[in-house]
Amino acid sequence: MRRRSWFAMNEPRTIPLRPRDRLYAAVTLVLAVLLLPVAFVRRPGRARELACGWALGMRFPAEDLTGLTDGARAAFTAARAEALWRHRQLIGLTSGYRDPAVQQRMFDEEVRRSGSPASARMLVLPPAESGHVKGVALDVRPHEGARWLEEHGARYDLYRLYDNEWWHFEHRPECGGTPPPRRPHPGVGHVLGN
Ligand SMILES: [Zn+2]
Repeated sequence: MRRRSWFAMNEPRTIPLRPRDRLYAAVTLVLAVLLLPVAFVRRPGRARELACGWALGMRFPAEDLTGLTDGARAAFTAARAEALWRHRQLIGLTSGYRDPAVQQRMFDEEVRRSGSPASARMLVLPPAESGHVKGVALDVRPHEGARWLEEHGARYDLYRLYDNEWWHFEHRPECGGTPPPRRPHPGVGHVLGN
């Protein structure tokens, strides 16, 4: 059997928003509205971001923003507040900062699974090159949220980098609002230390 390419396997198909997702988004928005007065008392200038963060924390209880750089965390928080308040779009974090040892383990496992370091790099980078270890990479969900970030993320210096990973975004303020050229997968043209 011919192996399907990563591109084909990972590229999101055009799926209409499921009723369940619509419901989650509506409930999360209602929660954020209810939490707004409390957030306003806590931090008057950033109440909408704060209330949004609390509501999304209830929707995605497993997510963990610790270890991200201050810039990446602030950008992600602001972007998903806009997504929720303006477009009723939820964006959750499935993976942010990773410890170098964890990244190494993931890389080693992928080398074993795929057969070689070169093919492993199509999905996982070694710790020295990984944006997750630097605290600037964000794996997000669901598909619709990722698509929103792809469309609006440049305002927050957040960019999708790879064709084969619709979920992976990085905080790249040095790009100055111009999306960096997208690569087929993480192993292509990666500059060490970039
Ligand atoms: Zn990632």
